Amino acid sequence: MKNFETDVLIVGAGPVGLFCVFELGQLGIKSCLIDTLPQIGGQCTALYPEKPIYDIPAFPEISAENLIERLSKQIKPFEPKIILNKKVQKLTKENDIFLIESSGNEKIQAKCVIIAAGCGAFGPNKPPIPNINDFEGKSVFYSVHDKTKFKDKIIAIAGGGDSAVDWAIELNEYAKKIYFIHRRPKLRAAPNNVKILEELSRKGKIEMVIPFQLESLEGKNGFLDTIFVRNLENKEMKIKADFLIPFYGLSSDLGPIKEWELDVFKNTLQIEQSTCQTSQKGIFAIGDICHYQGKLKLILTGFSEAAIAAHSCYELIFPDKVLHFEYSTSKGINKI
Ligand code: FAD
Repeated sequence: MKNFETDVLIVGAGPVGLFCVFELGQLGIKSCLIDTLPQIGGQCTALYPEKPIYDIPAFPEISAENLIERLSKQIKPFEPKIILNKKVQKLTKENDIFLIESSGNEKIQAKCVIIAAGCGAFGPNKPPIPNINDFEGKSVFYSVHDKTKFKDKIIAIAGGGDSAVDWAIELNEYAKKIYFIHRRPKLRAAPNNVKILEELSRKGKIEMVIPFQLESLEGKNGFLDTIFVRNLENKEMKIKADFLIPFYGLSSDLGPIKEWELDVFKNTLQIEQSTCQTSQKGIFAIGDICHYQGKLKLILTGFSEAAIAAHSCYELIFPDKVLHFEYSTSKGINKI
């Protein structure tokens, strides 16, 4: 069992959790990040690393992956401890100190906890195909990390939402052929992108397999050969493909955080907007996981909440000190 102490434990190493390390560090507060995923970056890294984001202030366009790289560089001076592949489980409090136990048997003592857990510990919804696990990581992927992998390959994309439509359009430039499989004629994606997809289909660059549902997979050693799909009239179709990328959305769960006796609103945590504190003193929530009236689930909103939470923590971490608000331009990068 590994035990250690920090000023603030940040649950979730998505963009908002990462930026919070910076905001805390600037106030002289040490922090530790913990995440269930094997890498930092939350949704940006897990779901859309190569997609361009257009609404990060001062970056007219930046890929999600690049944003995370820059955040990682920005927090480097504060040398946060980062624990990956571990989920937070139990939380107890004794003498104003929180004790958090992780799925890896770490016991972390912290004066405050900032929950930046996005939509909770999440994973992709998988198509109900019994042997799909055999192909995962080799020829079945639930997100795209490296577009070049698909160069001149035959890809089947399944799903009818934004991710499926966006990636079909984007990968169309790389792939030899794309099959777009969806069980209903109507797609639930941005109308403009649906138009682009339909145009590509008319040009024969993408073949629409609609309304069909994934049924089974055949291949060897994790490499796909044939995808079997079926429609409501029981008509079967065989698709020869190198890769299958199902985009069936994410399922997320607050998991053990639900047991922490915090006010919950529809799988999010209710906070006081002016402090980002939850219903429990010393526990804050920022980013997609927090809720208040008018909350926008955007990265830039999360960054602002990170600054608010860090400033709110200060008096709990340093009860004898008075916080003098300072701009980074006058303070420079703080040394912890
Ligand atoms: P997340 O990024 O969700 O990170 C939370 C982290 O917490 C995850 O890594 C998770 O594994 C971890 N975690 C959860 N529970 C636990 C636990 N119990 N223990 C340990 N770790 C845990 N936003 C924009 O502003 N602009 C855009 O253009 C934009 N485009 C998007 C496109 C797509 C396809 C998607 C899916 C989202 C997009 N978003 C966009 C939304 C944006 O990604 C989120 O608002 C942002 O990621 C929220 O950051 P976060 O740090 O709060 O949470």
